[in-house]
Amino acid sequence: QAKACGHGNCVSYDINFTNKLRHKNDIEILLKQADFEKDFEVFYQPQFSIPHKKLVGIEALLRWNNLEMGYISPAEFIPIAEEISYINPIGEWVMGKAIRQISIWNEMYDFDLKVGINVSPVQLENKTMIPALADLMRKYAVRPENIDIEITESIAIEGEHKIKQIDTLFEGLGVSISVDDFGTGYSSLSYLKHFPFERIKIAKPLVDAIAYANYDMQIVKSIIQLAKSIGMKTIAEGVETQEQFDILAELGCDEIQGFLLGKPVPADEFEVCYFGQACNKERKKDSKRNVIHILPAYH
Ligand code: C2E
Ligand code: MG
Ligand code: MG
Ligand code: MG
Repeated sequence: QAKACGHGNCVSYDINFTNKLRHKNDIEILLKQADFEKDFEVFYQPQFSIPHKKLVGIEALLRWNNLEMGYISPAEFIPIAEEISYINPIGEWVMGKAIRQISIWNEMYDFDLKVGINVSPVQLENKTMIPALADLMRKYAVRPENIDIEITESIAIEGEHKIKQIDTLFEGLGVSISVDDFGTGYSSLSYLKHFPFERIKIAKPLVDAIAYANYDMQIVKSIIQLAKSIGMKTIAEGVETQEQFDILAELGCDEIQGFLLGKPVPADEFEVCYFGQACNKERKKDSKRNVIHILPAYH
């Protein structure tokens, strides 16, 4: 038995590999057949300032419900879409929805919220991305201050030249750039100082660990201090507990996003929860300044 094990492993590995490949091919085919308006939806997750839990922004997150396969996570299909460059039409579609939405909400409720839009490295290579973004900003009359482009830290692997290029791309538009998933990759911190990123998004794995691992807490502390010293804001991702929130507040983190204060939800639900009267969650609207404070008793 023990001797056959090696072969057994090999066979089961091959089966898994084949299944994976087939699954990937299926996703590829289904993606290309997807009717964006019918099958895709953009969800919005709130972002709050610390310590007052004031709503300052939203992140647009793509959802795909497929008839055959059901819900497929963006963590699974986005990389596949990137591989086949199909992320370009998808990304432009998301941008359109997100920019339209922020325009409506800021206008309707007299807010000044920022919408975070995830942009993958593949999209940055696409020459039509920036003109498309500029067109959408004009079409919906959205100011650049209300748009934040989230680019994952992994882009830094491609070097300073690449980041400089990205920076130049967006500079003319005046939109801000946030570094997504910061602290998970292999990149060095030194690239930060050369570029006027608006925000550093501290990655969920680090946030998860701060409550029980002193080492990770120290890393987050350093990130926050570094960001402050070079004039960048920090936002923690994936905050799920009050304990994490309290530590982040103590460390001077500027903003927070996570299930503790709100999951990504469809636009109509977001509206009810954060702007509407029908919201069953405890909140207080400061009508003078048009901000919503989520009270501590919220969850
Ligand atoms: P991301 O940009 O880092 O987005 C944050 C992810 O963390 C989202 O997952 C969000 O639902 C999840 N999250 C937020 N708070 C919590 C929390 O407290 N606990 C837990 N467990 N999770 C939390 P989601 O929506 O599944 O998206 C996964 C990734 O897919 C995103 O990571 C982003 O990289 C990518 N993605 C999503 N939408 C788009 C898009 O429109 N374009 C591109 N290029 N990428 C997208
Ligand atoms: Mg993001
Ligand atoms: Mg992230
Ligand atoms: Mg990400």
